[in-house]
Amino acid sequence: MKIERIAVHVFEHPTRIVRDSAGHAHAGTGAPGKARLALLRLVTEDGAEGYAFGPPEVIRPFVLDSFVRKSLVGQDAFDRERLWHDLVHRQRGSAGQLTDRAISIVEQAQWDWAGRKLGLPVRKLLGGFRDKVRAYGSTMCGDEQPGGLATPEDYARFAEKLVARGYKGIKIHTWMPPVAFAPDPRRDVAACAAVREAVGPDIALMLDGYHWYSRTDALYIGRALERLGFAWIEEPMEEESIESYVWLAGQLELPVVGPESLAGRFLSRAAWAREGACDILRAGAPGTGGITSCLKVAHLAEAFGMNCEIHGNGAANLQVVGAIRNCEWYERGLLHPFIDYDEVPAWLNSLTDPMDREGFVHLPNRPGLGEDINLAYIEAHTVERY
Ligand code: MG
Repeated sequence: MKIERIAVHVFEHPTRIVRDSAGHAHAGTGAPGKARLALLRLVTEDGAEGYAFGPPEVIRPFVLDSFVRKSLVGQDAFDRERLWHDLVHRQRGSAGQLTDRAISIVEQAQWDWAGRKLGLPVRKLLGGFRDKVRAYGSTMCGDEQPGGLATPEDYARFAEKLVARGYKGIKIHTWMPPVAFAPDPRRDVAACAAVREAVGPDIALMLDGYHWYSRTDALYIGRALERLGFAWIEEPMEEESIESYVWLAGQLELPVVGPESLAGRFLSRAAWAREGACDILRAGAPGTGGITSCLKVAHLAEAFGMNCEIHGNGAANLQVVGAIRNCEWYERGLLHPFIDYDEVPAWLNSLTDPMDREGFVHLPNRPGLGEDINLAYIEAHTVERY
């Protein structure tokens, strides 16, 4: 079935989330603002469509015209593997313009198209392992807002609320610059200790703190987390330095999870598995070039007897989680005391990742990626199309 057209709608939606200079999300304090999101539509010659969302700047007109349309239009939409490799081939000469994230959005639309065409959720095409998964509540990074996530006690009170909501696991993102008092290893440990004290021994806890700690700071934090019975430590150091992670993982009983933000998709992760730089591998569909590539990481981990915990929320990641055995959790968030994650986004008719009171997210049975898209809202709020 030939791909006839690839179109993008950029639309506006209300948001209460603001971003700091490092790109970290926080709860805004004033009235809701506006944000822009892009919907990529892949249309085949029979009129069938597949959809994927992404940042407009990632799939801007130059990227679509120079690489994506040249690669895909006229090709068989079912040939995901071949088309994925063709896009990767075009990355070589793109001077960094065709990113893994752009490829991910394009190939997510192909998966969505295939699922809709065949009347199946994408996870059934990928493998089909489960229909529900335990979610951990993943907090936003720390801030300086009274009643927000400004103190260890704030984290403790918020953790109690998350447990009451049903979460059986919580991942804490602590303070990072530009927060005035960050980074501070002792304050990070104090927050972890306060949360453990608040939720008791039966809730799984993880830490994802400042990403540029020294080896000795990371080891200090890791040893403290061992005493607190944490499930893992995530990205406490620069991931470009595989040597630092080999050094850290070699000294901690605490599982080290990673790499999350490192480039190189499954290729770089093979070295992490072989060198023992982590105990649990990590990949997410948006960051590793799509569902196709993320699945390769999960299967790589399986070959090493390792779990692969999937990075981030969203429809594509949820479908991967539904198709693999070797992960324990779905990352639900980011969460903050001032934000209601269970509120349906304006561009959807229902939540993609609804969670019950026992902490299980039930995977959608809609065909494709399973997003319940409100196309009328998107049409009414489109500000640019190309
Ligand atoms: Mg992380």
